[in-house]
Amino acid sequence: MFNDTCDRPLLHKPGATQAHGLLLGIVLPDWRISQVSANTQTRLGIDPETLLGQSLNTLLSESDITAIADDLSKRPGQIHSLSLTWLTPLGEQTFNTIFHPLEDTYLILELEPDSAEKTFSLPQFYQTYKYVLHQLQQAVTLSELCQIIVQQIQQITGFDRVMIYQFDETGAGSVIAENKRDDLDPYLGLHYPDSDIPQEAKALFARNPLRLIPDVDYQPVPLMALADDPQSPLDLSLSVLRSVSPDHIEYLQNMGVKATQTISLLKDGKLWGLISCHHQSPYFIPYEQRSLCEFLGQVMSLEIASKEANEDLDYQKFLKSVQTQLVKKLGQAESLTQALFQSRQELLPLVGADGCAIYTEGTIFLVGQTPTESEVQDLIEWLEERFENHLFVTHALPHLYPVAIAFKNVASGLLALSLTQVQKNYVLWFRPEQIQQVNWAGASQNPSQAEADGTIRYFPRKSFELWQETVRLQSLPWKPWEIEGAKELRSAIIGIVLQKLNELAEINIELERSNNELDAFAYIASHDLKEPLRGIHNYANFLLEDYMNLLDEEGVDKLHTLIKLTKRMEDLINALLHFSRLGRQELNLQILDLNQSLQTIVDVFKASKGGEMMEIRVPRPLPLVLGDRVLLEEVLTNLINNALKYNKNSNKWVEIGFLETSVQPPTHPTQGTNSTLTLYVKDNGIGIQERHLDTIFRIFKRLHAQSKYGGGTGVGLTIVKKIIERHHGSIWVESTYGDGSTFYFTLPQGETDS
Ligand code: ADP
Repeated sequence: MFNDTCDRPLLHKPGATQAHGLLLGIVLPDWRISQVSANTQTRLGIDPETLLGQSLNTLLSESDITAIADDLSKRPGQIHSLSLTWLTPLGEQTFNTIFHPLEDTYLILELEPDSAEKTFSLPQFYQTYKYVLHQLQQAVTLSELCQIIVQQIQQITGFDRVMIYQFDETGAGSVIAENKRDDLDPYLGLHYPDSDIPQEAKALFARNPLRLIPDVDYQPVPLMALADDPQSPLDLSLSVLRSVSPDHIEYLQNMGVKATQTISLLKDGKLWGLISCHHQSPYFIPYEQRSLCEFLGQVMSLEIASKEANEDLDYQKFLKSVQTQLVKKLGQAESLTQALFQSRQELLPLVGADGCAIYTEGTIFLVGQTPTESEVQDLIEWLEERFENHLFVTHALPHLYPVAIAFKNVASGLLALSLTQVQKNYVLWFRPEQIQQVNWAGASQNPSQAEADGTIRYFPRKSFELWQETVRLQSLPWKPWEIEGAKELRSAIIGIVLQKLNELAEINIELERSNNELDAFAYIASHDLKEPLRGIHNYANFLLEDYMNLLDEEGVDKLHTLIKLTKRMEDLINALLHFSRLGRQELNLQILDLNQSLQTIVDVFKASKGGEMMEIRVPRPLPLVLGDRVLLEEVLTNLINNALKYNKNSNKWVEIGFLETSVQPPTHPTQGTNSTLTLYVKDNGIGIQERHLDTIFRIFKRLHAQSKYGGGTGVGLTIVKKIIERHHGSIWVESTYGDGSTFYFTLPQGETDS
């Protein structure tokens, strides 16, 4: 957009000036005219050759020269301006005389026409300054500040277009504020490559805060110097008339601009941006107005840091409030997945992203503008090895991961967070490619000219294309506090997970304590109950023995029932006692050959059941298991006993076997592992109705009247379950009512495959 170029050497020593004024180089201390612009004849009525070598007092009164000297000594090194009367062959002429020293022995004087009608009186100046300053103080953010500046400068100067152009860290820039004539195309938001303003030009902008080109089509005026001029070629860095590089002139012509004024904006001494003014026709701004613009530029320069900080602060505050909401939601959610899913709306603003993918335990949720699920899946695989401190940040993903070219429109920028160390839980944020479509219809230019010399820098449209090229496959960079937002999310999640773990640990301790208490209670209660029960039982017996003759038949019957009931109660208490012991008893773990145990159990059964018809099937030898022999034999005994007991078949059979691959209980599918074995005890008995499949494991739960199927306490299966669970296994039953049941249970294998 500026291209005050340029790559040619000596940009600050062009050997020529613009045509709207004239320049004199004066050697001090004898005030000898040593160098002049070649237009003195038209401006002063003396040809340059005549002027060279003369003393300045041929053109200026002694008092004016003293005034210049005074100014120089009062504010050394500065640019000064005085409205002076020059004594020329054309008569007395008033010029706005702008001067600055070059070292201590040389002075550059530049004469600009002094506008006949003073644009500002002092009070007017003051009023304007005061008003603008007040406005600037009202601005809170940088964008407000910029908007006020462009408005005020357009009002003061009357330029067709006033813009603020800000450089980014790469040196490229964009238009961030604009005030313009309504009929002109907007440039707001346009970007330009670093090469548009070469380093040398930037350095000049940093030194000389205001640059005016009143007529882009001017004829450069060469400088002429005495042979012994000590400053040839003259350094015009601080000159107001410095001739403009032809490249820049061409660039401006291609934009249809006839006059420009540029004011530098500095932050911490470095060029931060420019206030750029354009006019569609030649346009001269008197020095006083320029000074006011320069002053506003300086005020703005002072304000940039604090306004930027305000803007950052606002953004940071916003991020903080999003974080707070997120943490609140996370705290209330039951699982990480649920928490993240519920907070999906907050996740995007948290880091200023357009899309987000949440990956927890193999499930992907997509929010906003994202690649497809399978693209995200592949990206995660690529990412897994690339996290550093749980973070991966890039604003040029396709450069690192070429597959991403396919979805550059949504994910040229990636900010990824790995939430947990062991499990794969990730949050990925996406930003689209930065390139934007711009309508250049208003800028008249012929692009083919641009290619003639192989360069493209003179053409704004080409320049924009060049910028597009440099930022292709890139998103806007992630700001430090956006990355911080992601990190804090991780800390918050970890904090919550830890808190949940803590709560769980506390619940576990509590559970263990109450379990122990329950066991102890069951033990004490059953133990202590036995004594009075025994007393009741004994007394009932005494009554029967000693007072039978005094009782009628009904009384004797009742005593018999009482004795039977005490017996049953004793059985129940013993079962409870046994059960309570199981909870406290240490397991005596060993590698067990269940085939041996089974043999003993079967022998006992056969002996106790006498000639009853029953078949005990073991289709193949059982594998080794890891467990407590006594307890596991109790399991088998109980299950086999039930299989034969709840069986009305004339050919009763029970089958004991194991499954080839471990199967887990339907309600707790995660409990099994590779080293788990699933055994079963199957019968052709009466079966169990579906609604009882779970309840039969409850203590004292029987499905039949006391007298049926040989009676029982309803504790057997509860004990079986407790033993299996103490071996970290599970037990469940499948049954077809009337046809038989299969009890499955899992146990740790006695040896692994290896
Ligand atoms: P008990 O046998 O002392 O009643 P259990 O806890 O061993 O107590 O069994 C609880 C109930 O489950 C039994 O009363 C019976 O109704 C039912 N049951 C247990 N095993 C079987 C089986 N193999 N077939 C059918 N019903 C069974």
